Parts: sequence; C-alpha cells; structure tokens
Amino acid sequence: MHWGSEVAPPSTGGLHLERRRKVSHDHSHVAASGKKRLAVAVVLTLVFVIGEFLAGWRSHSLALISDAGHNFADAIALILSWYALSVTLRAHDSSKTFGYHRAGTLAALANALSLAVIALIIVWEAIHRILVPERVSAGPMVVVALVAIVVNLVISFWLHGGAKHDLNMRSAYLHMMGDALAGVGVVIAGAIVWLTGTSIADPIVSLIIGGLILYSSRGIWVEAVATLMEATPPGVDVSRVQQTVRSIQGVKDIHCLHTWVVGSGVTACSCHVTIEPEYEVSSQEILRQVVDKLEDRFDFAHTTIQIEVDGFAPSVACEKGVCRGSACLSSAAHEHA
Ligand SMILES: [Zn+2]
Ligand SMILES: [Zn+2]
Ligand SMILES: [Zn+2]
Ligand SMILES: [Zn+2]
Repeated sequence: MHWGSEVAPPSTGGLHLERRRKVSHDHSHVAASGKKRLAVAVVLTLVFVIGEFLAGWRSHSLALISDAGHNFADAIALILSWYALSVTLRAHDSSKTFGYHRAGTLAALANALSLAVIALIIVWEAIHRILVPERVSAGPMVVVALVAIVVNLVISFWLHGGAKHDLNMRSAYLHMMGDALAGVGVVIAGAIVWLTGTSIADPIVSLIIGGLILYSSRGIWVEAVATLMEATPPGVDVSRVQQTVRSIQGVKDIHCLHTWVVGSGVTACSCHVTIEPEYEVSSQEILRQVVDKLEDRFDFAHTTIQIEVDGFAPSVACEKGVCRGSACLSSAAHEHA
C-alpha cells in the first residue's frame, strides 16, 4: 500500500524498488482474501447463534445460552475485524498520514473488551444457577454442542489461510479454536446431566466457558495495548539496532531512536545519526546504508533518519545529549533554545 504510492528518486537502485513493490502487493492480497473468509464466517456464526440460543432457552441450559451469547459476540467481533481489514486497505490521505492501520488495533481492543463483558455476565449467571439450581434437559445440550464444534472447526479452517501475519485474523482464528473446546465442555456437561440426573454440571461448564473467554482475550489485550503504547515491535532489539547503525563506517553515534508498530505487520523507525565531520561529503551514501540495513535486518516498513555532523547539533536536546537517555520525549528534552 504505502510503498506502491511512493515515487522513487532517480538515485534509488532498481532492485531495491522491486523489493518494495513486492511487499505492497503481498500485503493487499492477504487482506482481500481475508475479507472474503471473514464474511463467510460471520454468516455461518449468525445462523448458528439463533439455533443455539433457542435450543438453550427450551432446554433451560445456561451452558448453551452462554455459548450462544458468546458466539453472538464472536459475530460482532468478526464484523469489526471485517471492517478493520477493509479500512486498513484504504490508502493514507492528508488527514491521516499514517493510513488506517490502527483501525485494526482499535477493533481488536473492542473485541477483547466485549469478550470480557460477556465473560463476566456468564460467570454472574452461573453462580446464581449454582445457588438456585434449574432442571436442564441433556439431549438438546449434547446435540447442539456437537453442531457447535463442527461449525467452529469449519470457521477455523476458513480463517486459517490469513491467520499468520495479521493480528485481527490471528486473534479471530485462535478464538474459534477455543470455542470448539468450549463445545466439547458442553457435550461433557450434557453427558453428566444425562447420567447423574443432576443439573449442577451445566452452570459449572458455564463458569469454565466464562474463564476460557477471559483467557482467550488475553493475547489480544497485550498486543493491542503494546501497539497503542508505541512499544518496540516484537522481535526488534533496540540495542541491536544501535549496534548495526554504529557499525557503519563514518557513523559516530545514534540517538533519539524510536521504533514502533503502526498497525499489524507495519513497523517504523526514526533516529538521529551523528557522523564524523570528515565524512560529511559522503553523508548520502551513509544514509542509504543506514536505511538498507534497518529495512533488511529489522524489516521496518518506514524509516525517518536525521543525519547530523558531529559538532553541528541542530537542537539543544541533540547538543546536550538528552536524547541518548530516557528523557528523549519529555518536555525538557525538546524545548526550543
Ligand atoms: Zn468465541
Ligand atoms: Zn529526541
Ligand atoms: Zn516513506
Ligand atoms: Zn539529534
């Protein structure tokens, strides 16, 4: 997306440009096929939710109703993921120069939040049912839960293709797999109710489903919050970035280094590079080496590099060396002279 719209200056090597175009093509292809898969998953899930809820209502099974409520939240989450994917495909414009990648991050966060709310409602109702038991009929529980397992496995299979790179697709896929497990739990509870004649297994399995929902949303929280906190991308070691840049001939130091995740699979890096005064004439050559190494070794999709000649610091912060420490983005560090 980003690279395809960029015009290369005449000095850029042909091979380099080719690599960038390829990255852009792969990314939009994955997202387009992901959208189709998500649409199929939404329709399948919604049709099933209605049947499962009716069966749960008629058999008084909280486990089935929990699972239906949960699957309904899944359909909403899938619609959010679908929206996020289509929005991520949109090119950036003058009002959003970073593009719409974070829409996917926000969707993942909303997804995790709705799951937490549903889990708490299920736990609340299950505790109530343990204190005040209700008779449930085991037959519909087992049959509908078996269908639920099949539906969840089919959806998992559909989503698997796009699951490796995109946070949204991966979280949706992992989620569906967890749901298949919840279905197994309902089948076991139904069997226990049928064999023993007591209904206590029904709210107990509901409790487990609630816990499972909370647990499965954990990874989405961590990754979405890390992205919003501008955390260092997973797999990037900042000290190795510094080492790599310092190892280039003519480079004296690197400071004001920032790396972050723009959106799923899109990372960026910005830094100031101080060069020795005698290398000033070859500063463009050094700059190209820095960009090449950062893109090749750390896979940054976007880099912004400020070259400074030693002894000619452009700001007080650079001169005093505040940006070397942790005070880089504090108000003191970037005060005007
Ligand atoms: Zn689910
Ligand atoms: Zn700084
Ligand atoms: Zn650029
Ligand atoms: Zn600087």
